[in-house]
Amino acid sequence: KKLSSTLIDQLDWQKQNDLIPAVVQNHLTGKVLMLGYMNKAALEKTLETKLVTFFSRSKERLWTKGEESGNTLELIAIDKDCDNDSLLVQVIPNGPTCHLERESCWPDGNAHPFIDNLTQLIVSRKGDDPKSSYTAHLFERGTKRIAQKVGEEGLETALAAATNDKPELIDEASDLIYHLLVLLEDQELSMSDITNNLMQRHKEAVGE
Ligand code: AMP
Ligand code: ZN
Ligand code: ZN
Ligand code: ZN
Repeated sequence: KKLSSTLIDQLDWQKQNDLIPAVVQNHLTGKVLMLGYMNKAALEKTLETKLVTFFSRSKERLWTKGEESGNTLELIAIDKDCDNDSLLVQVIPNGPTCHLERESCWPDGNAHPFIDNLTQLIVSRKGDDPKSSYTAHLFERGTKRIAQKVGEEGLETALAAATNDKPELIDEASDLIYHLLVLLEDQELSMSDITNNLMQRHKEAVGE
């Protein structure tokens, strides 16, 4: 109660007709899901009920996301920005957030972590001239060689840690992850198979 009244008091409500834009983000994946506006009552209700509630400018009333569809947004955390005029709302989405039945109101164009970009580059190297690209060379050598490299880089990573050499550890861990991405691609898997599995375990561990 104390904390929430502090947040409400700190916000610059005058700036935009008592409305604060609130960016909603999946707290596990970082994906940006939607943008809404909160007035004081919406923010209070969000903090009290732990279900994200906006002030709908079209309905001209409080709107708890999912009130009809059931696709609610469970509040995990809420933060104001540097100049107190916008909010970042971390959530667990129950179902698709966009009314078009999509996960996000921005179907593409967000949440492409660097690993995804690197994976795309690795995939694009498949079948290229092995002399022109180390990745193409690895794919040509095949599964045994790629798997052997993952083993080597894993050992080098462990040794760097054991000898307490941080710059070396960063280099070897980078080698390990790069070769692991190549191995996963070679095995027709991808990092998303791994992160999905980790997220499943995480949910079990924290009871989400
Ligand atoms: P819901 O809040 O999911 O029960 O949806 C109720 C109504 O709110 C829908 O019919 C839409 O008009 C609107 N709506 C739902 N989700 C969104 C969204 N992500 N962005 C904008 N409007 C939405
Ligand atoms: Zn700002
Ligand atoms: Zn939408
Ligand atoms: Zn290495």
